[in-house]
Amino acid sequence: MKINPLVKNFILVIVILLIAGGVFSVLYLPSEKTNQISLSQLVTDINAEKVKKITVSGDSVAVTYTNDKTADSMKESNSVLSDTLVGLGADKAKLQKVEISASIQQESVWSWLLPALLYGILPLLLIGFFLWTMTKQARGGAAQVFDFTRAKAKIFGAEGHSKEKITFKDVAGLKEAKEELMEIVDFLKFPKKYLAMGAKIPRGVLLLGQAGVGKTLLARAVAGEANVPFFSISGSEFVEMFVGVGSARVRDLFAMAKKASPSIIFIDELDAIGRHRGIGMGGGHDEREQTLNMILVEMDGFEKETGVIVMAATNRGDILDAALLRPGRFDRKITLDPPDVHDREAILRIHSKEKPLAENINFKEIAERTPGFSGADLANVANEAALLAARENKTHIFQQDFLEAIEKVLLGPERKSHILSKKEKEIVAYHEAGHALVSASQPGTEPVRKISIISRGMAGGYTLQLPSEENKLRTKTQFLAEIATLLGGMAAERLIFGEMTTGASNDLEKASHLARRIVKDWGMSSLGPISFDDKENIMMGVGTENNYSEAVAEKIDKEIEELIRSAEKKAAEIVAKRKDLLTKIAKTLIEKETIEREEFEKIIGIKNGKTAKK
Ligand code: ADP
Ligand code: ZN
Repeated sequence: MKINPLVKNFILVIVILLIAGGVFSVLYLPSEKTNQISLSQLVTDINAEKVKKITVSGDSVAVTYTNDKTADSMKESNSVLSDTLVGLGADKAKLQKVEISASIQQESVWSWLLPALLYGILPLLLIGFFLWTMTKQARGGAAQVFDFTRAKAKIFGAEGHSKEKITFKDVAGLKEAKEELMEIVDFLKFPKKYLAMGAKIPRGVLLLGQAGVGKTLLARAVAGEANVPFFSISGSEFVEMFVGVGSARVRDLFAMAKKASPSIIFIDELDAIGRHRGIGMGGGHDEREQTLNMILVEMDGFEKETGVIVMAATNRGDILDAALLRPGRFDRKITLDPPDVHDREAILRIHSKEKPLAENINFKEIAERTPGFSGADLANVANEAALLAARENKTHIFQQDFLEAIEKVLLGPERKSHILSKKEKEIVAYHEAGHALVSASQPGTEPVRKISIISRGMAGGYTLQLPSEENKLRTKTQFLAEIATLLGGMAAERLIFGEMTTGASNDLEKASHLARRIVKDWGMSSLGPISFDDKENIMMGVGTENNYSEAVAEKIDKEIEELIRSAEKKAAEIVAKRKDLLTKIAKTLIEKETIEREEFEKIIGIKNGKTAKK
C-alpha cells in the first residue's frame, strides 16, 4: 500500500510533537513533583533548625533539610532572600547557620534557554522541517515535470506479475481477432523459426473497434500469451506543450522496448497523433506531426531481428494518416466487432467469476437485455451488480441485482453506441435478412459471410459478403443482382411491416450510384456502348453543362430509373416468394444477433456459397 506523502508528513509532525511533549515533561515534571513549600514554612523550618542548605537560583529557592530531604520555594524577584526571611520572622542566628548559596550561572542559563528552546526554537524547527519535506517533494514533482523526455510507459513485465497476466482465456468472443493474433504470439515466442525461413515479420498491428470492445485487453493478452513485457502508452499523452518532447518520448519508449525484446509496444488512441494531416480544426500541429514522424522513423528502423511488435488501437481508423498504414508499418488491421448475445454472455461470466453469485443466475437473460453493450459496459454491469448487492448487505449477488445494474449502466452518460429497442431490433433483423436472402437467391453473387444486427458505426446492422476481388471483370447480370441485393432490405421491410424506414437510405444511395455508373460509365443500357462522362466539365466549373444533350440526359435518367425499378421488383419477388425463409433468418438474427456463413447456408439450404435458384 502506498501512503499519500502529505499524510506521511502529517504523521511525522505528530510524532515529533509527541516526542517534544515527552522531552518537555521530562525536564519540567520532576521539579513540579518535588515538595513545594511557602517561604513562611521555610522560616518555620529554619527556626526549628531543620534546614541545612538553601540554594537560590533566580527566583526559585531550593531547600535541603538536615535529613537530606529537599523542597522548593519561590521568592519575590529582585528581593534578597535573607532579608525576606528575616522580614518573615526568621531567627537571624539560626539563619546564619544555614548555608546559603546562589547558583547564578545555572539559573541564568536554564531560565532563558529552556523556555526559549521549547516555545521558540522547537516550533521553528518543526515548521522548518515541515517546509523542508514539502519543498523536497515539490522539487521531486518539479523534477518530474521538467523531465518530459522520459516515456511514461506503463510496463507489465512478464515475470513477477503473474496476478496481472492476461491471456486469451480472459478475453471472451473476438474469435477471429484472436486467431489472427495467434500468429503474432507464435512469432514472439519463436522468432528464430520465422527468421530461419527468411520471413518478413509484421511490425505493426492496428486494432480497430469502438471504445470498450477490448482492444487494450486483447493487446495485453497477446503479451501474456507470449510471456513478453508490454509497454503501454496512450496517444493523448504525447500531446505535450513543448515541441520535441513527444518525439523524445517515443525514442525513449522504443529504446526501452528494444532492450527488453522480444516485447510489445502498445499505443492506445493512435488517432490522437496519427490523424490524417490536414484534417481537424487544430491545423498544423507541429508537435503531433513530429511525434508521428518519430514513430514512423522508429518503426522503419527496426532491424530484421528486432523482436518488438507495435500494437496500436483506435476507434477512428478512417482518419489515420496514410503513412501509418504503409507496408512495414501498421499493415495488419484487425477489426474488433462489438459482442453479440453469445459473446456478451461469455463476457459477463468472465467478470462474475470471482464474485459470490446466487445459484439461479441466468446470464443468458442478462445478455439478451444488453444489446449494444460493449465489453467495458458489461464489466461495468457485473461490478454495479456487486455494489448493489453489497449495499443491501446481501451475501450473494442475485439476478435482480444484475437487471438493476443494466439500467444503471444504461443511464450512465458515457454510452455512445445506439441501443436498439425491441421494435427497432425486429426491423433491422428483417432488413438485414432481406439483403442476405436476396443476395443468396440470385446466381453470380458473392457468398454471404456474416449477418449482424449489432450496429457498427452508422449502420443499424450489416450484411458482409466475401470481399469481391478488385478489378475483377463483372457482368451486367451481376450488377443487377447487386442492386437487387441493396434493395432487399427495403423490400423485406415493406413486405413485413407494410412500409419502409429511413434505415434504407444508405442502400438507396449505393444502388442509385451503381445504376448511374452502369448506364453512364459502362455502356450497359439501351443507349448503347457510349460513355457519358461529364467529369471534365465539372472540373472546369461548368458542372451543369454536360457533353451530351438534354434529351440524352433525360434518357439516361429513364434508364437508371428502369434499372432500379426492375431490381426493386426482383427483390420484392424474392422476399415474397421466400417469406418463410426470410422470417426464419430474421428470427435467428433476433435471437443470436449474428449469423455466420455456415449457419446462414444451413438455414436456406445451400452449400459453400452455391446459390440455388428455386
Ligand atoms: P478498449 O481498449 O477497446 O477501449 P478495453 O480493452 O480497455 O477497451 O476494455 C475495457 C474493459 O472491458 C476491459 O478491461 C475488460 O474488463 C472489459 N472487456 C472488454 N472486452 C472484453 C472481452 N471481450 N472479454 C472480457 N472483458 C472485456
Ligand atoms: Zn441495408
